[in-house]
Amino acid sequence: MRLTIVTIFPDYFAGALADGMIRVALDKAKLQVDVVNLRDFTDDPHRTVDDSPFGGGAGMVLKVEPIDRALASVGVGEKGARPAGARVLLTSPQGKRFTQRTAIEWAILDHVVIVCGRYKGVDERVSEHFIDEEFSIGDFVLSGGEPAALVVMDALARLQPDVVGKFDSVESDSFHSGLLDCAYWTRPADYKGWPVPEVLTSGHHAKIERARREQALERTFDRRPDLLEHADLDGDDRKFLGALKRRREAGQ
Ligand code: SAH
Repeated sequence: MRLTIVTIFPDYFAGALADGMIRVALDKAKLQVDVVNLRDFTDDPHRTVDDSPFGGGAGMVLKVEPIDRALASVGVGEKGARPAGARVLLTSPQGKRFTQRTAIEWAILDHVVIVCGRYKGVDERVSEHFIDEEFSIGDFVLSGGEPAALVVMDALARLQPDVVGKFDSVESDSFHSGLLDCAYWTRPADYKGWPVPEVLTSGHHAKIERARREQALERTFDRRPDLLEHADLDGDDRKFLGALKRRREAGQ
């Protein structure tokens, strides 16, 4: 996958590209990241990317022209005139919430382009003519889209084939299967008299798998019951959840 980030702060991404799963994805050539400096697409001596909004008011707005030119330079023109498999995204608190489902959908694209907003926002003609989707990483306001772009870059990198060592591990992560993940323990089996659950050291794989599944169900029920509506559940899961509901209603 090719990922292009359009930003006024290209240095912001250096640390993220140097370490962890993103680094692994780059080294294995499963991901190519290009960070494009929006200021390179200006003509004036001050390399101006923003201007005051028509109608007045506080704050500045990113101009349409440098963004138009930056997108053209990476081969994605106006909507409707770009290669299939390319998607141009804008960071925005008003966008659709980015979730694991979105990550799975975007991870198989050939080219994802993320335009990072700044200041009061971006000239609306950018959204109208260039942006396929606006996305938000949560109901709060950042000073710029760069942290949001990093979040998406990380989530997409680890979904590229052969990046995470064991793909099973990705599949059991929270949200992937529609449930939160189970809890984990590691050595020592007893620390200060705090033992790990016995079943995990029993060596009985089927029992361990069931215990983990039930814990994932219980956590999702307690912490994010909204997820259960769309989760992939079998008969045993439903039975377990029915019993859990009765237990919770009885205050246990
Ligand atoms: N005036 C805008 C907020 C601008 S914040 C509004 O109220 O809708 C500056 C920039 O930061 C935005 O243009 C956007 O690109 C980015 N940003 C802020 N919050 C974000 C969020 N929750 N998710 C993604 N991007 C965000």
